[in-house]
Amino acid sequence: MAQIEKQMILIVDDTPENIDVLDGILRANYRIKAALDGESALKIALGKQPPDLILLDVMMPGMNGYDVCRSLKENTASQSIPVIFVTAKKQVEDETLGFELGAVDYITKPVEPAVVKARVRTHIELKRHRDHMETLAQTRAQQLIHAERLSTMGLLSAGLAHEINNPLTYIHSYAEYVRDDLEALQAEFNGILNPSESTKESVDSRFLDCKESIAEIIRGSQRIMSLVENMKHLSRADDQSRGRVDIVQCIENAMKLCQFDLKLIQVTLDRDDVLPDIMGNRQQIEQVLINLIKNAVDAMENDPSAALILTAKMDEKSVRITVADNGPGIPEDKLSSIWEAFYTTKTDEKGTGLGLSISKGIIEDHGGSIRGSNITPHGASFTIELPPADALDFVQEI
Ligand code: ADP
Repeated sequence: MAQIEKQMILIVDDTPENIDVLDGILRANYRIKAALDGESALKIALGKQPPDLILLDVMMPGMNGYDVCRSLKENTASQSIPVIFVTAKKQVEDETLGFELGAVDYITKPVEPAVVKARVRTHIELKRHRDHMETLAQTRAQQLIHAERLSTMGLLSAGLAHEINNPLTYIHSYAEYVRDDLEALQAEFNGILNPSESTKESVDSRFLDCKESIAEIIRGSQRIMSLVENMKHLSRADDQSRGRVDIVQCIENAMKLCQFDLKLIQVTLDRDDVLPDIMGNRQQIEQVLINLIKNAVDAMENDPSAALILTAKMDEKSVRITVADNGPGIPEDKLSSIWEAFYTTKTDEKGTGLGLSISKGIIEDHGGSIRGSNITPHGASFTIELPPADALDFVQEI
C-alpha cells in the first residue's frame, strides 16, 4: 500500500538542546530537519525539498530570526512556507514585528509540548488547504485558457463555416442538376436516335460513368456540408447561457484566477460599495477581465514598482470597469491596431494577438463598449462600459 509521506518541519535554533526538545515533541508525526544558523536554514528552505513549516528561533548570532523570516518572505520560492517563531521574548512589540514580517504564530520558551503540537498541526493543516486552493485556482485558470481557445476556435470556425457554405451549396445543387439532366439526356438519346446495340451500350456505359462521378461529387459535398454543420456547433460549444451577473464577483474571481501572475504586483481595487448586476454571461465577462489583467501583467514584467489599479463604478448609465497599469503603455500609432485579431507584440508563446479582439467581441455582444488609452506619466488603461441589467429590462419593455 502506498504510504503518505509525512510533512517536513525545519527547526532553526543555535542551541542544539532546544532543537532536541522540539525534535522529541514532533518526531513521531513529522519528518524533522534542523539548522543551527540562519544561513543554513535559508539554504534548506530554498533547496530541492523545502519544509512544510519552519520553527524559527529569534535570538541567534549572525542572521537573527527576523532577518531569516524577512529573506524567506522576499523570495517567491519560500514565501508560502509558514513560519512560527519560537522565542523566550514575550514583549508585544517583538510579536508585532514578527507578524509584520509574515510569521503565522509564536511559541514561547520553555515550550509546552501540547501547545507546540497543536500550533504546528493547525498551521500545517492551513498550509495544506491553501496549497489545495492554489491547485484548484490553477486548474480553473487552465480551464479558462482552454475556454478562450475554444471560443477563438469558435469564432474562426463560424467565419470559415460561412465562407465554405455558400460555394458548397452551389456545387451540391449544380451537381444534382447535372445528374438529373444526364438521366433525361440518356432517355432522349435512346428514344430519338435509335442507336445500334453496340453504340447504345457504349453510350450507356459513358452515361453510367458520368452519373457515378456526379454521385461522388454529391456524396463529397454532402460530407463537407455536415462537417460545416459541426463547425457551426463548435462555434456555439462554449457556454452561451445568459443571466444576471454580479460584476463585483466577476472582478474578484478574475483577480483570484490571476493571483499567481499578481504575486509581485501592487494591486488596488477601488469600487462603489453597491454595483448593479449586468445581464450576460459570467464566464465571458471574467474572461475579458482576465485578458486585460494578464496583458497589464505582461506589460509590467520585471518592473519592481509594478502596480495595477482596478476600478468599478456606476456612472450615469453604465457600470464602468477600468484596468490600469503603470507599464510602458501602448505606442500612440498602435492604439487602434491592438484590437485587430492576431496583432501582438509578444514574441514568445504568450501572445496570440486574439485576447483584445475576442474581448471586444464579447463586450459589444453584451451591449457595451471597451476602449484603451495611455495614462501619464506612463501606463495603459482599458475601460469597459456595460449597461446595468435593469436598464436593459427597461429598454426591452418600452
Ligand atoms: P496578445 O496578448 O496575444 O498579445 P492581445 O489582443 O491581448 O494579444 O493584445 C494585443 C497587443 O496589445 C499586445 O501584444 C500588446 O502589444 C498590446 N497591449 C495590450 N494590453 C496592453 C497593456 N496593458 N500595456 C501595453 N500594451 C498592451
